[in-house]
Amino acid sequence: MTRVGIVGNGVAATTAIREIRKSDESFDIEIFTDERWGYYPRPNLIDYIAGRRTGEDVVQFGYDWYLKNDVKVNLASPITKIGTKDLSLETFGNSHGKFDRILVAVGSHPFVPPIQGAEKKGVHVLRTLDDAIDIREAVKGAGREIVVGGGILGVELAAAMKQVGGDPIIVTNVDTLLPLQLDAGASSVLLHRLEEMGITVLLNFTCNQVIGDVSVAGVVSSKGDTIEGDLIVVATGVRSNTYLARQSGLAVSKAIAVDNHMETSAKGIYAAGDCMECDGEWYGIIPWAVSTSRIAARNIVEPGSANFARVTPQNTLQVVGIDLTSIGIVRPETPEFESVVQIDREQGRYFKAVIKNDKLVGGIAMGDRKVSMKLRRLVTEEVDVSDQRQTLFEIE
Ligand SMILES: Cc1cc2nc3c(=O)[nH]c(=O)nc-3n(C[C@H](O)[C@H](O)[C@H](O)COP(=O)(O)OP(=O)(O)OC[C@H]3O[C@@H](n4cnc5c(N)ncnc54)[C@H](O)[C@@H]3O)c2cc1C
Repeated sequence: MTRVGIVGNGVAATTAIREIRKSDESFDIEIFTDERWGYYPRPNLIDYIAGRRTGEDVVQFGYDWYLKNDVKVNLASPITKIGTKDLSLETFGNSHGKFDRILVAVGSHPFVPPIQGAEKKGVHVLRTLDDAIDIREAVKGAGREIVVGGGILGVELAAAMKQVGGDPIIVTNVDTLLPLQLDAGASSVLLHRLEEMGITVLLNFTCNQVIGDVSVAGVVSSKGDTIEGDLIVVATGVRSNTYLARQSGLAVSKAIAVDNHMETSAKGIYAAGDCMECDGEWYGIIPWAVSTSRIAARNIVEPGSANFARVTPQNTLQVVGIDLTSIGIVRPETPEFESVVQIDREQGRYFKAVIKNDKLVGGIAMGDRKVSMKLRRLVTEEVDVSDQRQTLFEIE
């Protein structure tokens, strides 16, 4: 019987299990995670902090799911070494034997920039359910919450805190919100909407110090401005988890390097999700984790059978009352692109379509879910829009 070991229990790992089971019932699958919970989608953590979900509702797969899929699950069991020659897995010196294939799906961790005092009590990051439990508890007693980072996670967090009665402020070191997903116009409409919701945003505020004795009392910017607050969450991006792979001798660049089959530098060891990159391409989003994991799983079942194709990045902001989707190229920098923009600041609407060779290659839709869906379809189906330039944002 073919034995498959999976390291990690996030969306990449669980997608691989489904994909393997679709084509093969007989594989002997064993999964290892350093967390104490069954699988939960990380977007659920925002709902939990916002009080829209209980802890039980966050976890999507309990023991019964693993049982149904005939998977042996090891919770709270961090893998400390991968044997790249004999395809073995170890947890603190305990060997779990040899496998025929291994999938490394260990995800990423929050990146905290150098901020003096970031180790103080009251400074948090958000990646796991345990982080979310700590933050939700801390919001209850906080007067003002400071979110460092104006990316998707920072904005979603601040909105969640607001929903449970907090008084959040977002500080970001750049002059736009969601700099990876929006252009300046869309950012200014979003900022306006957030301020209407009672969320303050400070752009160009580089947080370089946390003040307070034992607990936090606020943050100080590089220009010396101080903001008082008693709960700080740093949401300034993620970095791939590469320590295990490096220690085990796998080739790593910024993330674990894989080929078109999602195979690492060691034969029979595959990687998927936030922890890996393919030809220098990397995204820390669910569509990337799902696509790479499906390819890895198909090659685990039948080595060499599936090749990776590019993923078009797409992000949707999960904030109640704001529909915002960004897909593909949104800030073209060369002349072969054409942009069509429609803006209504008061209504909180901003639509942008980026066209190349008569095809939509990216866009932003804020304020209308139907337009988001339309743009997404036009991009993914590579529709010729040469006769639709005037009606791109209209819904039949
Ligand atoms: C709060 C939040 C909200 C998000 N919202 C969205 C969203 O709306 N849309 C979107 O596209 N993306 C979103 N993301 C990003 C998305 O969740 C990630 O891209 C996705 O989780 C990546 O999946 P993964 O399986 O590669 O890694 P992860 O989900 O990080 O899972 C990695 C797993 O590996 C385990 N692990 C790590 N090291 C070891 C080890 N040594 N041994 C055993 N197990 C180990 C971890 O415990 C974890 O179970 C969000 C992220 C967060 C934190």
